[in-house]
Amino acid sequence: MTPQVLEARNFAALVEALRRAARLFAPVADPAGGTMFAEVSAATDIALVPANTRLSVKSVFFPQREVLLSFKDSGLDAVPAVDGSIVVLGARPCDARAMTWMDGVFGGGGREDPYFIERRRGAVVIARACDEPCATCFCTSVGGSPYGTKGSDVLASPARGGPETGTPDLLLEPVTEKGAAFLEKHAALLRPAGEGEVTAREARARAAEARMKVLDFSGVKEKMDVGFDSPAWETITRSCLGCGACTYVCPTCHCFDITDESHGERGVRIRTWDGCQYAQFTLHASGHNPRSHKQARMRQRLMHKYSYAPETAGAVFCSGCGRCVRACPVNLDIRGMLHALKDLP
Ligand code: SF4
Ligand code: SF4
Repeated sequence: MTPQVLEARNFAALVEALRRAARLFAPVADPAGGTMFAEVSAATDIALVPANTRLSVKSVFFPQREVLLSFKDSGLDAVPAVDGSIVVLGARPCDARAMTWMDGVFGGGGREDPYFIERRRGAVVIARACDEPCATCFCTSVGGSPYGTKGSDVLASPARGGPETGTPDLLLEPVTEKGAAFLEKHAALLRPAGEGEVTAREARARAAEARMKVLDFSGVKEKMDVGFDSPAWETITRSCLGCGACTYVCPTCHCFDITDESHGERGVRIRTWDGCQYAQFTLHASGHNPRSHKQARMRQRLMHKYSYAPETAGAVFCSGCGRCVRACPVNLDIRGMLHALKDLP
């Protein structure tokens, strides 16, 4: 199927059609500032602004808190049904790409997390290209692109009018069969893109990439591997507060905890996000903690993403979204930390 154009005047009608057929998630205004992903009920809720959401799209598929099952009288009571009819509108290419790595975490190696995988199987992801990457973005340094398509079913980018016009016409490119079927289903609200619109898209993609500074992280894995006991870890981590914000906002951090909450004979088993930067994350019941210092915890975070994941999953588990840079209260910047490690003698 050729690229289609959703004219701005049809945006609300498409949103209404999507909302009737599925749970529709899109960026909305965040009371804490900026935007966040949430289920929307009307086009007017949606905030397709240039800046990325504070939290990534991972919360749609891997909620910060979810009930896995309920129990009563020492036995299983019920397992909640997972609603996999989901449309995500406006995920950034970096987030869509990051979700493909999460697919391996929750669905690879012969194991399958039914909660995550069910949502992912049913979802249609309409990513929105970035024409105005933030100063903290570095996707092109880790194999991504502001117009990247990995993990998306459809890639949307501004057509006539451009990103500066609020709600522009959107050029919708099918990326997967699921995406093509989605566009065919909603063909009544779309029109085929003209040659000029496709050409303009290419120019926009090149311009967006050209805006980004490419950082050289080559050799950082090798330096980390041989510098496991280097004092540099203490140096780069000295100001870290251990607040865990960097792990919560990260689209690829996936550590969780499972606890039971009960009242009398009834209760629920819940899964909640956890984070490797917390001092108690690896605390054993014996009192021993294999990562008792914050430099050991930071080493784990950076090595997991830039050393262990390339070995076990074939990819750096960092999409370059820059959220951890923006969220850190003491301005620790993963780009600077990696460069400091890379420069180890
Ligand atoms: S480590 Fe930071 S830049 Fe990389 S994906 Fe996570 S939040 Fe984004
Ligand atoms: S956000 Fe900053 S201060 Fe908080 S744990 Fe992460 S690196 Fe440390």
